[in-house]
Amino acid sequence: MTIDFRSDTVTRPTTAMRTAMAQADVGDDVFGDDPTINKLQDFAASMFGMEAGLYFPTGTQSNLAALMAHCQRGEEVIVGQQAHTYKYEGGGGAVLGSIQPQPLNNKPDGSLDLAEVEAAIKPDDSHFAITRLIALENTIGGKVIGRAYMADAIALARRRGLSIHLDGARVFNAAVKLGMPVKDLCTGFDTVSACLSKGLGAPAGTVLVGKRDVIERARRIRKMVGGAMRQAGVLAAGGLYALEHHVDRLAEDHANAQRLAKGLAAAGIASDPVQTNMVFAAFPKEICKPLQEHLRSKDMLCFIDARTRLVTHLDVDAAGVDAFVAEVGAFLSQNARSLSRAAAAGA
Ligand SMILES: *Cc1c(COP(=O)(O)O)cnc(C)c1O
Repeated sequence: MTIDFRSDTVTRPTTAMRTAMAQADVGDDVFGDDPTINKLQDFAASMFGMEAGLYFPTGTQSNLAALMAHCQRGEEVIVGQQAHTYKYEGGGGAVLGSIQPQPLNNKPDGSLDLAEVEAAIKPDDSHFAITRLIALENTIGGKVIGRAYMADAIALARRRGLSIHLDGARVFNAAVKLGMPVKDLCTGFDTVSACLSKGLGAPAGTVLVGKRDVIERARRIRKMVGGAMRQAGVLAAGGLYALEHHVDRLAEDHANAQRLAKGLAAAGIASDPVQTNMVFAAFPKEICKPLQEHLRSKDMLCFIDARTRLVTHLDVDAAGVDAFVAEVGAFLSQNARSLSRAAAAGA
């Protein structure tokens, strides 16, 4: 069985999820006729305490539609340098929406300095783009941003007449870590985008939730960019199953990430403090490539780097973590022996 720490996007649908998908009632969703998609959208909206939901094929498209639903051409979004919507989505907001990003450095905890956010809001002056939106992300780089900060950011947006979007691709990881329902964590955002295809384990799909008027604008954009699918209830059933059954179990992924970091530490590999399902580990540069190759030969997949991201998920259990740690430990000690042999031979 492959042990794959490359991402939490690599999960396969479980047997129960596949059954739900196979049995899904479907219809043409462009006509609003797919009962499973409608159910997913309503269920997601109610989980977030929002008026409406909209199903998207990907998180990238959901974020794009949200940005474009909030901002017109020549308007601006304030966003983190490390934010997925800014850094990892091909510049879609700028390319397709003519939305100017105003990136700000993320603080070490992943948040934006709200004084910097406020200072970046442009005055009403024809020299400037019109600042329209703040976009945050939670979790970001596996780090949880707490409710108090988010409430302050929402209050700032309200005070300055801006909209506020949350890229909550992994917001359920944040909510589980904080021990609060997503509804309480996200109340006050105009829109939240939540991936079903990451830790939640659905094969595809993201849901955007928010106020009804924004969601209706996003629906038009989804159609424009080719994301309005037909009998996609087959897919949405996986997402619905994930929301119903796979939220609380994210705690297991978090525990496994802790276990992984602890195991690596015992093998001499240090990691950043682990908050959710991501471990950022520091491997000696010279062993990265051979170690990655060695692990691949054992059917263990990861991108080993000086700063290695290892992500836990539904398809890796504690035994898998232990097997991986043992393999890394064995490789390191073998390597140390051959290194010291080489040193001895040279002496
Ligand atoms: C994965 C991810 C997305 C995009 O999701 P895709 O479905 O891969 O397009 C957006 N934001 C964040 C924070 C993500 O991790």
